[in-house]
Amino acid sequence: MAALRAHCVLLTGSNRGIGLELVRQLLGGPHPPTHIFATCRDPEGPRGKELRDLASKHPNLVLVKLDVADPSAIVSAAKIVERKLNGAGLNLLINNAGIFTPVSLETVDSEEMIRAYKTNAVGPLLMAQAFLPLLKKAAQDSKEKGLSCNKAAIINISTVLGSIERTPESYFKPVISYRCSKAALNMLTRCQALTYGEAGILCVALHPGWVKTDMGTQEADLTVDTSVQGLLSVLPILSEKHSGMLLNWEGKAIPW
Ligand code: NDP
Repeated sequence: MAALRAHCVLLTGSNRGIGLELVRQLLGGPHPPTHIFATCRDPEGPRGKELRDLASKHPNLVLVKLDVADPSAIVSAAKIVERKLNGAGLNLLINNAGIFTPVSLETVDSEEMIRAYKTNAVGPLLMAQAFLPLLKKAAQDSKEKGLSCNKAAIINISTVLGSIERTPESYFKPVISYRCSKAALNMLTRCQALTYGEAGILCVALHPGWVKTDMGTQEADLTVDTSVQGLLSVLPILSEKHSGMLLNWEGKAIPW
């Protein structure tokens, strides 16, 4: 099986749930990255404790404060990462942070719609803009042919709930702001693939399955361990034929 060999990885929302497990499994994998930038809103506070414990044991783990709903924080984080990389590029950007509110068409208001878009769609867009020079650098420096996560990639953690075609089967879940913001993220992924592909950057949206986290609840199908094992075995097989697609944690395509 192909293995992920990205030298430098950055994740958002990495203090709990899927993000934290991605950090854990990346650190414990067969080819740990030389730099993992684990970003979260409050690395110094109680919510960052597990990440701090990991960072105390793994010198390749760097914690960076980042609220993806704050455009100026994104720009500052990119500057910090650029300084730490000292001329190297960023191979893999994983836009994982997300929010989910149970609201229906009847109960949602404009504030909630905007809040969901800011975190779930605008955040990933601004992250890619800010980190683009570092992703391009990684692509230029790589000797690999074609597109891959080892070379340079943007992975947007999306959901089947953002698939327009698959909406009827899950429409009993009243999460309108989440659905619309993730459908926007899916569109963003396709546009990023068409734009950034020329620079050697792979862009894919991944659905992690229904996962037992604070967001997914304990009723979900998958443990976070199983979902993340799946995601990390899909990343190394991604190539140009997947760029601009929405795939699940087992690598199967999901229709838009
Ligand atoms: P959790 O609710 O467990 O964790 C969400 C993470 O996102 C937390 O680290 C949280 O940080 C962070 N976050 C939220 N808003 C922001 C922000 N503005 N800036 C930075 N970080 C932020 O969710 P999951 O781990 O389950 O979900 C991770 C991703 O997977 C999301 O994009 C979600 O949509 C997607 N997904 C999850 C599914 C599931 O079943 N769990 C199913 C399909 C998709 P903080 O602690 O500061 O709040």
